[in-house]
Order: sequence, then structure tokens, then C-alpha cells
Amino acid sequence: MYNEYARGSHTSRKTLLPMSFFASAARFLGAASLATIILGGFGKVQAVDFVTVEKNGTKTELEGRIEVEAQDGGVLLLTRDGVLWPLPKEEIASRRKDDKPFKPFTKDELAKKLINDLPGFKVHQTKHYVFCYNTSPGYAAWVGGLYERLHGAFYNYWKQLKVDLHEPEFPLIALVFENQESYAQYSRKELGDATKSIIGYYSLQSNQVNMYDLTGVEELRIKGDRNSAARINAILSQPGAERTVATIIHEATHQLAYNSGLEARFADNPFWVSEGIAIYFEAPDLQSAKGWKKIGGVNRVNLFNFRKLLRERPETSLTTLLSDDKRFRDPATASDAYAEAWALNYFLLRTREAKYIDYVKELAKQPQLVEEGAEFRLAMFKKHFGDLTTLDTEFLRYMRSVQ
Ligand SMILES: [Zn+2]
Repeated sequence: MYNEYARGSHTSRKTLLPMSFFASAARFLGAASLATIILGGFGKVQAVDFVTVEKNGTKTELEGRIEVEAQDGGVLLLTRDGVLWPLPKEEIASRRKDDKPFKPFTKDELAKKLINDLPGFKVHQTKHYVFCYNTSPGYAAWVGGLYERLHGAFYNYWKQLKVDLHEPEFPLIALVFENQESYAQYSRKELGDATKSIIGYYSLQSNQVNMYDLTGVEELRIKGDRNSAARINAILSQPGAERTVATIIHEATHQLAYNSGLEARFADNPFWVSEGIAIYFEAPDLQSAKGWKKIGGVNRVNLFNFRKLLRERPETSLTTLLSDDKRFRDPATASDAYAEAWALNYFLLRTREAKYIDYVKELAKQPQLVEEGAEFRLAMFKKHFGDLTTLDTEFLRYMRSVQ
């Protein structure tokens, strides 16, 4: 699931769960087989599974933990680096098990693997993250500081709401490319042409955040060593910086949500929740030299967009937002949908906190690779928040008073 923000403007996004990937995974696993055995689960000690995949005549053995097993023989495999592989039966050449327990890679093991996969890159490790970069060490360290502050704030925020989250099972990885070109080249396989407008994204499949060094962009002719804190601060004082920092935080929030148990990767998470939460956390604070400090402030860009939507908001707006993710995927309606998602999360967290928490907890329990329909989504929402018409009236009244 990923971004969405072009530099300076809000443009189209698609989902990365590439939806095609999700759809095909869901298809081959098959609705009927979703009496599936959900084998995986954080915290359980499980033996290692070895799956040999054969594609175009080449065999590769993957070591991991089978998360979902379909009756037709397809599997969803989680490897030691945190990558999820939906493997149809046709691609599985053989399988075996080992007695030793499944163990995620350590940060050092991951660092070694990343450097091997990305020649010329260096590694910057922080307490919870492994950054792999080929830009300046100063920028990597700046992003590292931002991510660690977000990590602490994210866990504190949910703890204070009495939502029990677990520490990420895998070290969190972020790649920082030196420029748009190298980032685009790497990301093309996941993003396609959208790489041009997407400055960073979190991939549900690889579990990584990928981005590039925005301080190196041509049009920002700011003097100073590319590595210096002064230069980074000067860049953050540029008019476009608010969205830049917001995007970096937004993607890191997705990554934390999917690694802490707040949301489940490859489950049917409504976009209005996933995106709403990521936007709720992103609000940067450019008064602070660090660029970001608090959670849940009014998101100016999204409040502005929501006000714009209010001028001709259809009566069915809440229903369409809740029912499916179409409005988020259509470039013509995406910025309205993001704004409304932010507003709805903001409103519910401020006026119906306990109900919101129960709702989010129920969502987190949904099984992987099951796509629920609109009716299911609406029913679950109404179960927690009541009648939509009444709620919508209060929602609009509340949001009109937000300054
Ligand atoms: Zn997002």
C-alpha cells in the first residue's frame, strides 16, 4: 500500500498490494479453500518450511514459514527477510520441512543480504531499522532519526489508547536511493509508470519502504555539503517540504501498522482505515528542525481538500468511502477520498474513541487473503458506529467546526 503524493501535488495512486497480485493470490487460493488453515501467527514457534519454486526452468529454494495453505496446494510463504510470496501450486516444485524453528533474519543478516542484492549501497542501522542507501550518510541518518521518533510515538500513541501491539517480528527495512532515476529503475517492477509521481511507498509484499533522497533534487539549488544538517534544514524550510516529510512519515506509518499487529498484511483492510491512519500520523511540524513531532494534529492539506469536497459532496459519500476502495484508486477522486478518510478517522478518534478502537481491533483479526465485500464492510462499520445517516450528520457538523 503506498503513496500517492507526487512532489507538491496529490496525484493518483494505486495500491501496492498490487491489486492484481492480491486478486490472483486470492483466486488461486480460492474462496472455497479459505476454510484455509491459517498456519502462521506471530509468536508461535514453528518449524521452517523449504519451498522450491520453479519458474521459467530455474529452481530456487525459499526458506520461510507458510502463512496460509490452500486446499489446492498453493501457499503464502513468509521468508526470513519478511517478504510474502504467494505461490501457486504450478510454481511449487517441491516442499520439505525442517525441525529447526523459523527465525527472522537479524539486522546484521539483513544488512548483509541487502548489500549483496544492491551493489554500491551502504547500511545505516538504528534500533529498529535497517536503512540501505546510496545517498549521503547525513540524509540516511536524518531519515533514521525521523523513523525512530515515529516508531516511539506510534507505539506510545496506541498504548495510551490501550491497543496492545507487538514489536515487529522482522527488522524494518527502508531503501533510500540517491536520486529519482535509480529509485525509479528499482521500483518500476512494482509501480510501473507510476514511479514518476510517487516519491516513496511501502510495499506489502516486500515489507520495505522505498524512497529517494529528496534533498538532491535539481530544482532545490541550496548551497552546502549534501551531508550537512544545515543543508537538510534549509531544504525542510522550502515550501514543498511539508509534503515531502509527510510522505516519508506516511509510508513509515503504513510499515509500522502492518508490522505491529494493528493491521494484517494481505487481509482485507479498508483503505479508509489504512490511509486514514497513515495520514493521521503524518502531520509534520516544520517549526521543529527535526521536521515532525506529534500525532493527530489537524492535517491542513487534507482539511483543505475535505472542505473543497463539502461544496458538492454526494449524499452517498460515506457509503462509497466505506464500501470499497474504488475512490482511492481513481485519480479523479483520489484526493477527495484521502481527505475524507483522514476526516473520518479524525472525527471517530476524537468523538468515539472506544468504538473506533474496538472496530480497528476487529479488523486486525481478519484472515489473510480473504477479500470481503461491501456488505460485510458496511455491516461491520454499522455494528460499531450505528446508523450511517445519523453518523454522517454528526460527522459533517463536527468537521465544519474544525479550524
Ligand atoms: Zn498510504
